Amino acid sequence: MAKVFVITGPSGVGKGTLIRALRERVPELELSVSATTRRARPGETQGVDYHFLSDDEFERHVTAGDFVEHAEYSGRRYGTLREELERRVAGGHPVVLEIEVQGARQVRDTLPEAVQIFITPPSEDALRARLIGRGTDDADQVAKRLDTAREELAAKDEFGHVICNDRLEDAAGELERVVRDALH
Ligand code: 5GP
Repeated sequence: MAKVFVITGPSGVGKGTLIRALRERVPELELSVSATTRRARPGETQGVDYHFLSDDEFERHVTAGDFVEHAEYSGRRYGTLREELERRVAGGHPVVLEIEVQGARQVRDTLPEAVQIFITPPSEDALRARLIGRGTDDADQVAKRLDTAREELAAKDEFGHVICNDRLEDAAGELERVVRDALH
């Protein structure tokens, strides 16, 4: 069966950037497009960055059992649609899920063979600086995300691999090694 990689860790740690770097190095990897009830940020595209859903649409998928995992994060809902994942796995492609910690725990229970990788920031200050610097969240959201990040960081030892994203090139190299080891 095609491999599933779960990449988790706090918001602002650079999961998205690392995954872009990883996919340049390992092009056969496919990224599962998540569903969310948060609004699209400028530059984000429906169906590419996320499936942006209304609260009702999301709830209907929950009721129908369409999610492999789903969680609430910073007052919004996020989830991995079974169809997204299964279509890619059925095509024989290794798949990457970029999700927060509660969702990663659910995947650990339902798909124990998935490779779980936790990304940590070099420090809390670095995380705060990144959340503020990317300019996508207001001060209230940044504070909420930092609170959640503290809880998420406490869970890092639950995961099979922990990679510190200090220098992007180093972290991407480490991530590539973990992925290639699992693929071969
Ligand atoms: P953002 O709003 O910054 O795009 O994402 C907020 C958090 O939700 C990030 O930690 C991101 O990895 C996580 N996330 C994105 N998609 C999913 C998903 O499908 N399921 C879960 N559980 N978390 C997700």
